[in-house]
Amino acid sequence: MRISYSAFDTYQSCPLKYKFQEIDKIKTPKSKEAVFGTTVHETMKFIHTPGILSPALDQAMEHFSNTWNPAVFDNPDEERAAFSQGIKIIQDYYKKNNPANFNIVDLETRFQIEIGDADDKHIISGIIDRIDKIEDGYEIIDYKTTKKMPSQEKVDNDLQLSVYSKAFLARYPKEIDNVDKLKVSLYYLKHGVKLSATRTIDQLKKSEQLFLDAIRLIEEGRFEPQISPLCDWCGYQNLCPMWKHKFKDRRKINTEEVNGEIQEYIELKSAMAITKDRLAKLQEDIVNYMDQEGVERVFGTEGVIARTLRKTYKYDEKKIREILEPLDKWEDILKIDGVALKNIMDVLPFSARREVEKAKTIDKETKSLIVKKK
Ligand code: SF4
Repeated sequence: MRISYSAFDTYQSCPLKYKFQEIDKIKTPKSKEAVFGTTVHETMKFIHTPGILSPALDQAMEHFSNTWNPAVFDNPDEERAAFSQGIKIIQDYYKKNNPANFNIVDLETRFQIEIGDADDKHIISGIIDRIDKIEDGYEIIDYKTTKKMPSQEKVDNDLQLSVYSKAFLARYPKEIDNVDKLKVSLYYLKHGVKLSATRTIDQLKKSEQLFLDAIRLIEEGRFEPQISPLCDWCGYQNLCPMWKHKFKDRRKINTEEVNGEIQEYIELKSAMAITKDRLAKLQEDIVNYMDQEGVERVFGTEGVIARTLRKTYKYDEKKIREILEPLDKWEDILKIDGVALKNIMDVLPFSARREVEKAKTIDKETKSLIVKKK
């Protein structure tokens, strides 16, 4: 299978979005954030394209302005704000980076790397924004135009940078004698901050495994929707089972009856929550009263409330095993505690975690309704 890094990233954030985009090939208009990012990336490429003289700040701003697409914005105010932000990014970038000071090896370089073994080979492709020759090796730089900046720990483990490192080593196998000499950086242009790290061979192997795991799930046809804040930027909401009902008016579906039921369900759920809180308070007061009066049953006009003692037991595992094993019943009572297993997953070594994931199959699926009030 052939998969690009960005498609893999889409699968990780939402498998269903991956299916719409990569398998069903449903096109969506580019979001304004994506258009903004592309324009800034193009300007960065212009700034660093090797030539006799590096472009001056004015030329870079002119380039940005010429490639700007105002049509994607909702209104003139929004468009103006985004344009000013783009200009500010370039100005700040020039303040901190004189393009003449960099030794550029490649810009927006495409790569393809093979992963897996002989009978299970796959190809990862992608584009590296920039590769520089630095004093003691090389530096891979990826520009980001997102608002949010990650922690250094996230950058230290960022999968994209691991894949890019692998791609570099595959393309220039003789250029560096140690992976330490390859610096990997994410440049957050809105903040003017570059976060850098290096990779170990072990991290590169693990990144390959993560791709193989995702490929296995894709080949098995696992495309569950994954709701997240990223849904706000997803162009497939009108097709997605998690969102499409929201567009029912546009789709001209007659939902009068079900609308009433949805409303009633939400109201009943709210009433249940209030009732639950009230019941808890009443129970507390009645128990206090029973303690105070030294009684175990209280009598009202509508009935009797009795206090019962519920006991939970724990068993001596060794002894129970000794009793049940000869009777061939031990296996019948063994049950893996999924919650406990999830709690210890983070402390397990990577290989063990992967094996646990592989050993996981769906036992049964039940659907329940969760109400999220506006
Ligand atoms: S709207 Fe959200 S859940 Fe649905 S496909 Fe898009 S990202 Fe996935």
